[in-house]
Amino acid sequence: MGTIVAKFGGSSLSEAAQFRKVRAIVEADENRRYIIPSAPGKRDKNDYKVTDLLYKCHALAQEGHPFMDVFTVIKDRYQSICADLGLSLDLDPEFNAIERAIAAGASADFTASRGEYLNGKILAAYLGYTFVDPATIIFFDQQGHFDAEKTQAVLSQELALHRKAVIPGFYGSTPDGQIHTFSRGGSDITGAIVARGVQATLYENWTDVSGFLMADPRIVENPKPIREITYRELRELAYMGATVLHDEAIFPVREAKIPINIKNTNDPGDPGTLIVKDNGSIRTPGSITGIAGRKGFTIIAIEKTLMHSETGFGRKLLSVIENHGISFEHMPSGIDTISLVIADSQLDNKLEKVLVDIDRVCRPDAIEVFHDIALIATVGVGMAYTPGIAAKLFTALAEAGINVRMIDQGSSEINIIVGLENKDFEEAVRRIYTAFVDPDPER
Ligand code: ASP
Repeated sequence: MGTIVAKFGGSSLSEAAQFRKVRAIVEADENRRYIIPSAPGKRDKNDYKVTDLLYKCHALAQEGHPFMDVFTVIKDRYQSICADLGLSLDLDPEFNAIERAIAAGASADFTASRGEYLNGKILAAYLGYTFVDPATIIFFDQQGHFDAEKTQAVLSQELALHRKAVIPGFYGSTPDGQIHTFSRGGSDITGAIVARGVQATLYENWTDVSGFLMADPRIVENPKPIREITYRELRELAYMGATVLHDEAIFPVREAKIPINIKNTNDPGDPGTLIVKDNGSIRTPGSITGIAGRKGFTIIAIEKTLMHSETGFGRKLLSVIENHGISFEHMPSGIDTISLVIADSQLDNKLEKVLVDIDRVCRPDAIEVFHDIALIATVGVGMAYTPGIAAKLFTALAEAGINVRMIDQGSSEINIIVGLENKDFEEAVRRIYTAFVDPDPER
């Protein structure tokens, strides 16, 4: 016996047919005791997410425009789910209260949170579980920072009173009783917090894909699934663009050493991906776990004779970019050279001014700028302490005639990051994948 916290994403609860799948999943295991729903997501490519529609209502109301057309679409969505499921739940009082609140100037957070709130009401009725409003167990401080201590204390006490409960995702409350939301996709975070609070044995995150793939399927044909991955590896891959789970959802469960299982509501038999603490059991020497990357970086390469012996050079350089409000991704360095790798979105139109300031403050011999850079991370705990990994990676790129502009390997040895030109990005990902995963597909 254990306790499973199961979070179901928007696509898993987008319409009545999906609710039926969710109920079958929940009922298949007695241990699925705490259920975290998102708001209804898209039913197909051209559909709208309820959360987006709620933000729209808020924006219209703020501008003094009528919002009832949009609000009616939202109401219809929930009502048709209830009707299809044969639920006798009367949501009209809820709708009326929300409508009045929006008209009276309710905040964007309050308005958006109603997507999860209403879906939680429906799911609780459908499953026969208790409804627990997260406003009463998930807390933020007055500045909107998550209050882990207070939440942990209140949440664990309250949920101990309910054997089975539905807790809507995405929001909580501030000390003055106002509703506050996490960032978009934040129901994943709620699930992780609840899992931690009830000391779950497993946190299941149900979505519409069967976990993580070793590479982006838009780039690599039929990439293999990742069956097991450590929190650290996932963090590296997620940072580089592999998304399925909200970044911040990893921390609460990681600290409590609770595994996360990413599962597919539309294919519950698939084992999905299990995210675990690194216990050494999944180290296959020389293997990689996944490849991820992003385009759109700029490298500023700075050269200065005797830089390595100039005290404070790094600080001066970083103070320049700090003063411009820019954060950097990597800073590989040589004896007399140092490079800053910065996302283009950070630079906006600031590049010229940044270069002038670097020149003035650091007095370098030369500054060179490389635009249109992509970064690719090859990640795997199996890479650590294994000779020949870098050789394999760089041989694969060299054989394809791809020029590597930057190399960065963290001291943990679970990640090699290469910088190359945007135009080579897709081919480089394919080459690395083939070199490690599928060296000789013919055999
Ligand atoms: N409904 C919210 C969003 O669309 C939160 C979530 O789905 O996790 O961002």
